[in-house]
Amino acid sequence: MSESRAFCPRCGDAVPERSASDANDPLRPGAEVELCDSCYFEDFDFVDAPDRIDVRVCSRCGAVHRGKRWVDVGAEDYTDIAIEEVSEALGVHVDVEDVAWQIDPEQVDQNTIRMHCYFTGVVRGTPVDEQVTVPVKIARQTCTRCGRIAGDYYASIVQIRAEDRTPTTEETERAEEIANRIVADMEETGDRNAFVTETSETPDGLNIKISTNKIGKKIANKMIEEFGGTVNDAETLVTEDEDGNEVYRVTFAVRLPPYTPGDVIDLEDDGGPVIVRSARGNLKGVRATTGERYEASYEEGNSPEARRLGTLEDAVETTVVTVEDDNAVQVLDPETYQAKTVARPDYFDPDAETVPVLKSRAGLHVLPDERDD
Ligand SMILES: [Zn+2]
Ligand SMILES: [Zn+2]
Repeated sequence: MSESRAFCPRCGDAVPERSASDANDPLRPGAEVELCDSCYFEDFDFVDAPDRIDVRVCSRCGAVHRGKRWVDVGAEDYTDIAIEEVSEALGVHVDVEDVAWQIDPEQVDQNTIRMHCYFTGVVRGTPVDEQVTVPVKIARQTCTRCGRIAGDYYASIVQIRAEDRTPTTEETERAEEIANRIVADMEETGDRNAFVTETSETPDGLNIKISTNKIGKKIANKMIEEFGGTVNDAETLVTEDEDGNEVYRVTFAVRLPPYTPGDVIDLEDDGGPVIVRSARGNLKGVRATTGERYEASYEEGNSPEARRLGTLEDAVETTVVTVEDDNAVQVLDPETYQAKTVARPDYFDPDAETVPVLKSRAGLHVLPDERDD
């Protein structure tokens, strides 16, 4: 066994021979490690930090400008953003092991946060530490999306309307919910072009202005999937873009069916009033006289010829006097308090002491008891 010797290429001092495994480590190329400790530490730079960091932040939505685009970072406040940006910008020497660090932000003024960063680690068996201070300058701006929203930019309008009535609160609230959900789902995927510009009530319904045609179409389709009805779209030429291409705005006109679940309607046939259960596709429901199922024909679709008598919510609770037979019961007329014989539908509970009834132009009818629904 011969004792081999190596020398520092800079100062010529003898250095311990590197072991074979060290010499073959691709992360530790030979030339650097052959320096003696004192030459090595002379050049050693633990932390690489910029003199300052400028961050452009959207003052409306908190997005941060990185590279060439705005990015949603989900930061709670500017200190969070500053910490994130500093973490991105700082580098530590690759040779250092067991690196630990902490940041102590110091708010200097509204737009400046001084970041005191303290690093520790171990290199060549020697503990090292370094403190750097990086000022972060926050520039408050308006991102492209917020600029567009503020400028009332939109590419399509979804109009929520209904046939022979105005949409219910449930329907318009659901439309807003659907719009916000679709936009949120798209934002989740990093799509910054998805937004609702404005939602406004009109005398006959609701208008939702949105940023893209694709979202408009999705909202309209989802509405008729849930409530039935139809959608028509119409393009309007609004302008030409800078390349001379025509820019269209698309209006999606949603027309909800005339009747909604819970409506009690009179078809003016001999079957008695129908309690509407669904208006998707053909109108479906049950007869208030028998409880039998009713479905409109294909030609009638969701708007058969009918009069609206009321809704389940218009029903009042009244006393059951006696059950006459399979087809008839006596109940108290809620207005005159006289016993009256009415049709007994199959949903009538013979043990019930009171039942909901609807008094309308079509007479007195027992409705289903849906208080537990
Ligand atoms: Zn040396
Ligand atoms: Zn913004």
